[in-house]
Amino acid sequence: MTERNPGFNTLAIHAGAQPDPTTGARATPIYQTTSFVFDDVDHAASLFGLQAFGNIYTRIGNPTNAVLEERIAALEGGTAGLAVASGHAAQVLAFHALMTPGDEIIASKKLYGGSINQLSHSFKNFGWNVVWADPDDISSFERGVTPKTKAIFIESIANPGGVIVDIEAVSKIARKAGVPLIVDNTLATPYLCKPIDFGADVVLHSVTKFLGGHGNSIGGVIVDGGTFNWSREGRYPMLSEPRPEYQGIVLHETFGNFAFAICCRVLGLRDLGPALSPFNAFLLLTGIETLSLRMQRHCDNALAVAQWLSSHKDVAWVSYPGLPGDKYNALAKKYVPKGSGAVFTFGLKGGYDAGVNLVSNVKLFSHLANIGDTRSLIIHPASTTHRQLSDAQKVQAGAGPDVVRLSIGIEDKEDIIADLDQALKG
Ligand SMILES: *Cc1c(COP(=O)(O)O)cnc(C)c1O
Repeated sequence: MTERNPGFNTLAIHAGAQPDPTTGARATPIYQTTSFVFDDVDHAASLFGLQAFGNIYTRIGNPTNAVLEERIAALEGGTAGLAVASGHAAQVLAFHALMTPGDEIIASKKLYGGSINQLSHSFKNFGWNVVWADPDDISSFERGVTPKTKAIFIESIANPGGVIVDIEAVSKIARKAGVPLIVDNTLATPYLCKPIDFGADVVLHSVTKFLGGHGNSIGGVIVDGGTFNWSREGRYPMLSEPRPEYQGIVLHETFGNFAFAICCRVLGLRDLGPALSPFNAFLLLTGIETLSLRMQRHCDNALAVAQWLSSHKDVAWVSYPGLPGDKYNALAKKYVPKGSGAVFTFGLKGGYDAGVNLVSNVKLFSHLANIGDTRSLIIHPASTTHRQLSDAQKVQAGAGPDVVRLSIGIEDKEDIIADLDQALKG
């Protein structure tokens, strides 16, 4: 008999999980415990010395969280995952493994507003510097490379502007520079795009959004692509130098193609501490079981809404890569052929005031700062998520005064369109 590799939908339901060995429970139990009993002194010593895998304390690992880690790693085609308290925590831990003060990240300037803040201000306080590059001018990534560059960071589909980044082209630049390409794949999810197939070395997620999908839990995941040589040129000492607190073991030597995930866990999560609650891991796992069904509906609804908006008299422009005339349509066909996601922006001819008016008039849509819920969501970035940015940064991030961002839910598309129709008239 030939072994079949399970398909995406099967992995979304089964990867990482098995009936509970003690009780037979079919759904993954919530292991709501802070700590785990050792078999004996030797067992404890081997766990603390990283000579054996096992549970010690939920800040470092938990069996419910482990299922989430394995599941998302399997869906992304990576070697291992690490679940943490939020998408932003995933970013901090991923860069913490790579950066020392004075080092540089080359980052796309089209990023989620929260990430622009995190990189511009908090990372600066760590001594981590950011060189901004423009995904519409791929060579700007290459021009940003210096001897201090430690990583390149992009989003696959950038929030909020509906920008599709040419992952393969950026990965070639990263490879040539000898640094990993880190891709935030939150808006696409592995259902639409698997960045590792296009040369990404690390994939990050805010699982809060479409992966969890129900707007009920914050969480983040780091996926190790298993592709990067961390020992080359001694650029990544956390991975390639002996660790004093673990009897001098070298993480890359000991853990090979999943050393990055281990490093983020046993140094980053251990010391910085943003652990995910097992209860949230359970809710996020439940969401992932229906990822394919939800994501396809999200995309089909979003395309219908984008088409409807494009012919509306009060709408100046719609930025949805799935529309045939869109600037990113060719890249969308390559990177997200099943659909361009459900988050996109459009511009109102009436500018700032029309944006404020629209978010005040909607009834089915919820006016809030989130994306990737089953429910349709709306926000006017200039007056909310992006208000802390300068006017120039707002425009650069695709959040000018006339811009409205939608996250299209999985309700009936006729109801979604009817709500926008009445709100635009109001
Ligand atoms: C929301 C979001 C984040 C941050 O995730 P949290 O779970 O809110 O910390 C990072 N990147 C993108 C693209 C996001 O949409």
